[in-house]
Amino acid sequence: MTQIVTRAEATALGLKRFYTGDPCKREHVAERFASTGGCVACLRDQTDEWRRNNSEKLRELSAEYRQANLEKIREKARQSYRANRENELARAAKYRRKNKEAINRRRAIRRRGSPNIIREERARHYYAHRAELIEKRAKYRRDHAEQERKNQARYRRENPETVRRKHAKYRYLQPDKTREFGIARRARERSAPGKFTPADWRALLARSPVCYYCKKKFTRTLRPDGTLGPATHDHVIPLSKGGANTPENSVAAHLSCNVSKGAGSWHPVNGQGLLL
Ligand SMILES: [Zn+2]
Ligand SMILES: [Zn+2]
Repeated sequence: MTQIVTRAEATALGLKRFYTGDPCKREHVAERFASTGGCVACLRDQTDEWRRNNSEKLRELSAEYRQANLEKIREKARQSYRANRENELARAAKYRRKNKEAINRRRAIRRRGSPNIIREERARHYYAHRAELIEKRAKYRRDHAEQERKNQARYRRENPETVRRKHAKYRYLQPDKTREFGIARRARERSAPGKFTPADWRALLARSPVCYYCKKKFTRTLRPDGTLGPATHDHVIPLSKGGANTPENSVAAHLSCNVSKGAGSWHPVNGQGLLL
């Protein structure tokens, strides 16, 4: 219950409102403004009514305000988002779950209408949140390792050409990384059970005129599409799966065929015989 404060008392105390408990002429038992004596509830009613009668004008006014204060509004939204990030994310996720179909429909329409804009937006979003997105993806991979392996193996099986092209491009653009992988693989070979000497490799090459997998000849260099190329040392049972580094577990194969085998045994070595 609001305390009784006369207008004179409120003015003396520097309060903006007073309260007598008596109804106004529209029978609101409400606070009144110390400055004018007007009823707070009446003013609210009048304001509401004005808003109802001037909705068009209000829309215009707020549009004008938004236009004039774009940066301010954005900054405020950003602040509020940062302060309530968890809630906002949960709310957005809930909205997406509830409106999945409508969202997909809108997306499809936008994609058809302006593919370039969408591509740009995506790129912008990616670069703005790059580190975060990479970390998120890595976490997903860690949490769903088994499923990820299966997905990747299936992708490699179903898209051997794309995978070949991608790996060829990678080797071309990242020679240093490629060399590192080669070093890592040689280290794995050293620590794997068994032994495979340069002499073993020469013997294997001598009895392997064609690729173990595709039965095509080896070539000096990779084709532009990443196929063929020189013989590479491949372990039939990958070392990572407990295979031995022995002549019995070794075949000569194109790097790309080694890739399309798709058992997770691809090693982006730079197209040279590994032990040469
Ligand atoms: Zn009133
Ligand atoms: Zn081959």
